[in-house]
Amino acid sequence: MGTTRNRQIEILFSGEPSFRARQAQEALFSPVFRSWDDVSSLPKSLRERLTDAIPWNRFVPVSVLGNARRDTWKALLQAEDGARIEAVLMRNSRGQFTVCVSTQVGCAMGCAFCATGRLGMTRNLAADEIVDQVRFFREYVTDNSLDGEVTNVVLMGMGEPLANYEEVREALLVLVGPMSVGPTRITVSTVGILPGLGRLLDDPEWPPVRLAISLHCADEERRRKMMPSTAPGFLDELARWSDAYTKAFPEKRRHLTLEYVMLSGVNDTDRDLRNLAKLARRMGRVRVNLIPYNATGSGFVGSPFETISRFRDGLAREGVTVTVRKSLGGDIAAACGQLAGKTVRKEEES
Ligand code: SAH
Ligand code: SF4
Repeated sequence: MGTTRNRQIEILFSGEPSFRARQAQEALFSPVFRSWDDVSSLPKSLRERLTDAIPWNRFVPVSVLGNARRDTWKALLQAEDGARIEAVLMRNSRGQFTVCVSTQVGCAMGCAFCATGRLGMTRNLAADEIVDQVRFFREYVTDNSLDGEVTNVVLMGMGEPLANYEEVREALLVLVGPMSVGPTRITVSTVGILPGLGRLLDDPEWPPVRLAISLHCADEERRRKMMPSTAPGFLDELARWSDAYTKAFPEKRRHLTLEYVMLSGVNDTDRDLRNLAKLARRMGRVRVNLIPYNATGSGFVGSPFETISRFRDGLAREGVTVTVRKSLGGDIAAACGQLAGKTVRKEEES
């Protein structure tokens, strides 16, 4: 695992009284400060050492693009090595903000309908880099006097979180710890890497965040065509894993979500509906979240609104808890599956 800034601070301040390192670590994740220089409780000499050695944010913003409705903002962020990723800020109907963060530069999973999948994989993001997307937007909300605060975080940007297990876990621990984001306000979305799902069941350090599994098809062969990472026996393994998950975490708030992007003629027929209802019942405590497809130039066509409604009603009739995702940010290519680390228009929002 990469050296976190927390560790760098400890090393930098090894000759100082231990409370100094703690002060610096707390300041880094506090919403009050904007730079090391703001932390006036630290002597100036220590602030200068921090400024020279440890970046306040691991990213430099290249651009921030807001949509016309002013409910979605997409940031193109550049890391120290030049890698570029995207993070998205969304305002919900209650006026609170959710930050959608990336966990990798690109993605190796190659899902056919996803713009990130077409990029291939460059590298994992470090825990600090995952957390800094949230810190960037937390400051952005304040600096631009957007009304409300960042309360929710979804790991649904570029990359597959469970393919970057250690750094993601470390980032989650910082989010639920010093950054005070409630674990039920954090959702990790995964394509369903079975070893990763198995690992988190037995991991005492994995925080009690919500999990969403990108299912998208309840027929294994056809799922593999859409999502080449589908392992042999995936659906059976997933149902078995879900049993174990429910036994390990019987609390109701730990329910699982199955994400299902609706693609016309691909996974939206009556047979698909029956397969999905059957799997959902087999898995037990799950909710299905139907996702309208966002255009990515992949050749797929999203299911029409009427088909999505029919699917929703059909699932509900089968006793499955189902919601339809409100898609934000399509007009600035900031919606699910559209993140590809480049901007068409470079506009700086002031
Ligand atoms: N790699 C993780 C998280 C990032 S993708 C995962 O796949 O779950 C976040 C969500 O967006 C996933 O459910 C993904 O399947 C979905 N998605 C990908 N491309 C999409 C598209 N073009 N339209 C709508 N949703 C899409
Ligand atoms: Fe990767 Fe998720 Fe896109 Fe699939 S949908 S390619 S797992 S980011």
